[in-house]
Amino acid sequence: MFMFMLLMLLSSTSAHKGRPQRHTIVQPSELRPVEAIANLPELTSRNIADFIGNIDGTEESDEAALRFLATYGLVPNERECPECLNGKMSLVKDNALPLHFVWRCSSCKTSNIITKKMIRENTFFQEQKLSVQKIVHIAADWVESPGRNNERTASLHGVTTSTIVNLNKLFRQLTEQCSVPRPGTLVEDTVTTNDYYDFFLTTQVGQVGLARPTHYYVLLNDWDVPATFWPTVTHALTYLFCRTTSTVTLPAPVLYAHLAAKRAKETMDGALFANRGVGRVFDLSQFSELAQLTNCLQSNPSLDGMTFV
Ligand SMILES: [Zn+2]
Repeated sequence: MFMFMLLMLLSSTSAHKGRPQRHTIVQPSELRPVEAIANLPELTSRNIADFIGNIDGTEESDEAALRFLATYGLVPNERECPECLNGKMSLVKDNALPLHFVWRCSSCKTSNIITKKMIRENTFFQEQKLSVQKIVHIAADWVESPGRNNERTASLHGVTTSTIVNLNKLFRQLTEQCSVPRPGTLVEDTVTTNDYYDFFLTTQVGQVGLARPTHYYVLLNDWDVPATFWPTVTHALTYLFCRTTSTVTLPAPVLYAHLAAKRAKETMDGALFANRGVGRVFDLSQFSELAQLTNCLQSNPSLDGMTFV
């Protein structure tokens, strides 16, 4: 806690006029993944102010909130200027705004253009009228007292009941989002069989409350590689589908096989249709007619076999 106070002190002094410009809220080395919030020591409504500041709206509280949000990636730690693309925006004090700061671009300012971005822009907090601290305090309360009715919670926090209802809905959505398995999640036991080496692998970000892991069975392993090779190579292959820059639910070769089969069917339907047009109907139970149809499909005679992709 002492370190935390010290950091707060250091950062608030560096924001004064005449000091070097402040391009980040916290040092990049202080950034933590959002999941790390769960590892903080017993975060409760009683001690939450130590981390995110009080709801008193003072500069100190806002600085604490700002640093907390940036550390865990809940607001961007730095911003690129959208106007001049000339580099990073700087944090400028503005006491009239939530969190007492706003992002401004000094390169734009020298050419007399005012470029400004709110701290909360494009974040969860953007649409909220309440202060960040108040929202977090209400969230902590929501976790600790799930049974309390909304009217009582509203009067405790001095807000309207509809605000509480809306916030609770948001909190529910957020927790559902967090419980969706993340891409790369591998499950190899409990829900798998004992007869084969089989595993479930999630490779895509699921929608809220929805994840579609793919179930894989290793039926034959004559490459003599360790079992861990198979989930690893399967996961790697989901990155290689040429029609998208993101991952796909199945390994790329499987999707290419689907594409080839679809293309083959379309080509065959086309060949049958064209021949029917000139009065020729193939009897596919006859091998000779099947061979003639195959000839029609063969688009590149110099290649052995069919090519459709
Ligand atoms: Zn700019």
